[in-house]
Amino acid sequence: MCADESQIPVISGWTKTSFIDYPGTASTVLFLSGCNLRCPYCHNPGIVLNDYPPVPFDAVGDHVAKRKGVIRGAVISGGEPTLHSRLPDLCGALKALGLKVKIDTNGLEPDVLAVCRPDYLALDVKTSFDKYNLLMNAAKHHYNDVKERLSESINIVKSMGENAEIRITVVPTIVDRADIELLREELRGVNKVFIQHFNPSRPMLNPTYSSVKPYDTDESERMRDTLSKAGISCEIRG
Ligand code: SF4
Repeated sequence: MCADESQIPVISGWTKTSFIDYPGTASTVLFLSGCNLRCPYCHNPGIVLNDYPPVPFDAVGDHVAKRKGVIRGAVISGGEPTLHSRLPDLCGALKALGLKVKIDTNGLEPDVLAVCRPDYLALDVKTSFDKYNLLMNAAKHHYNDVKERLSESINIVKSMGENAEIRITVVPTIVDRADIELLREELRGVNKVFIQHFNPSRPMLNPTYSSVKPYDTDESERMRDTLSKAGISCEIRG
């Protein structure tokens, strides 16, 4: 039952049981460290900066076995999990435990997503493609084909139908209604898009963002309507 730990990525964080991270089922949530972006509002700075000791995969397996029949899903989140070359092996190890696998991603590594073939995919689109250079972890990662990479990941989401979603956290200074308009054509054909409120009260990669005031409800609704009027199923969440 236990995986060879040398064959899977180091797990840097773990929420043993969650009822909110995998749609429709209880899940165990694993966090992989590092990220190719540096979103100032990131709520997982300790994971992005690799500040935590590793979690043994055996402990995950034992927990899932004890809650057999309750936990039916595993969520692999981060950080950005697709940066880990052994991610497909982790997906396989979790599936061997009898779990459905969901991946949370920023979509900059579509080839990895295609290999992993998760049962559910949640893709965070940050802003219009030309503004990704504002978010890049430029010291370590350089992409000159952001648009192509994100378009490919969005196409994977489209191909997965109801088993995938796109999330846009609407953070003032990062994304505005003009960006949503620019994304509109790309998002046509996605089954579910969620506009998510920005919550400045949680820990953030850049603490100065705690003073950024979230958009009011009217503006979030205008963003949602920008997509809904184009025939895209869109809801406000959070
Ligand atoms: S919000 Fe996501 S993509 Fe952005 S820095 Fe944090 S983990 Fe990376």
